[in-house]
Amino acid sequence: MIIKNGLVLRKNRFKKMDIQIKKGIITKIAEKIDDTKDKQIIDASGKHILPGFVDLHTHLRDPGQTYKEDIVTGTRAAAKGGYTTICAMPNTEPIVDNIATVEYIKRKANDLGYCKVLVIGALTKKSEGIEIAEIGNMLEGGIVAVSDDGKCVQNTKIMLNAMKYVSSFNIPIIIHAEDYSLSGKGQINAGKMSTKLGLGGIPALAEELIISRDIMLAENLKCHLHIAHISTARSIQMVREAKQRGLKITAEVTPHHLLLTEEACASYDTNTKVKPPLRTEKDRMACVEGLLDGTIDFIATDHAPHSDFEKEKEFSIAPFGINGLETAFASLFTGLVLNKKLELPFLINKISTTPAQFLKLNCGEISKGKYADIAIADLDAEILFSPESILSKSNNTPYINKTLKGKIEKTICEGRITWDSGA
Ligand SMILES: [Zn+2]
Repeated sequence: MIIKNGLVLRKNRFKKMDIQIKKGIITKIAEKIDDTKDKQIIDASGKHILPGFVDLHTHLRDPGQTYKEDIVTGTRAAAKGGYTTICAMPNTEPIVDNIATVEYIKRKANDLGYCKVLVIGALTKKSEGIEIAEIGNMLEGGIVAVSDDGKCVQNTKIMLNAMKYVSSFNIPIIIHAEDYSLSGKGQINAGKMSTKLGLGGIPALAEELIISRDIMLAENLKCHLHIAHISTARSIQMVREAKQRGLKITAEVTPHHLLLTEEACASYDTNTKVKPPLRTEKDRMACVEGLLDGTIDFIATDHAPHSDFEKEKEFSIAPFGINGLETAFASLFTGLVLNKKLELPFLINKISTTPAQFLKLNCGEISKGKYADIAIADLDAEILFSPESILSKSNNTPYINKTLKGKIEKTICEGRITWDSGA
């Protein structure tokens, strides 16, 4: 395969180049590659050639909740969004706390998937926060991290023991920081908006207390702590200080926490109901600032599909979660790059290069010898996220029926075309 005439992202700049791919690997990048023997030529004139995106935080809902999503629809949605690798969170039914379920996901993704799927194992059995899961066993099955995401270990002594155990393996613990005694039955960020709408509030403190606790524990145990979907200004400041002390603490932020605030909940649209909740403008600015100064390492979607019948309920009983894989790039490109908050190469670094490096993967940049994991984007083209156009089984996105710029025309995963908007 040869991709011709595209604007290729190399060393933070776009340059018109041709790319040759053989056996799933990038074999040559040059100003002109002519190979009459190569039957598959993609003309990418005027298009931007980006390294395929890598998502550290995807809920595939398979096994057990396949009415929301499954491995096939989830990976198709990922490919449409420009993703070539995603990490499956373990809060399925059953929970991924054993090697058999790890192997089921890997096998199904390998046989039927549209992108590469890496598996995150549970930290505790059934993610109940009581007994440590069979982590050593799951590592043999190839898990890349452990997390009870969706839930949070409340008991400090259990978290201490879990961290001590995980620190003997070379993988991160990913935390969903939420003190249940403070978040309670909260629905949206605690503050002006929750009072105005008469909805229960989730205070910033519910997240900050756990982050503070877990940074302290990780500092004592020299464990790699990764904070999922960080959302408050003070949480980000704590990570900044921990990094300055030289701790192995990393963090991710979601597209929705970078782009939206609690104001989006004013219409009682359940597609804005998410955990952690959309916060204030001050918190959103801190997320952008934290990303810019490197405190936040990368962007992860927290793709959390739910079916229409679940989301079409009153706000207080609808489940938490936003569908993210198909809208992530376009929403970030439209909201942050076109608005001149970030440069495009910086954004690509945060959705592809850095997460790939985090997992030590041979992708995340376009260079010779790397996997041919590539997204071809038409930055001027608009996309309408209508329910009919969405490939995920779920439509729970605040961008439903909205138009954004930055269309992924084609996605190539190890040399195989996994998404083609023209097909
Ligand atoms: Zn979470």
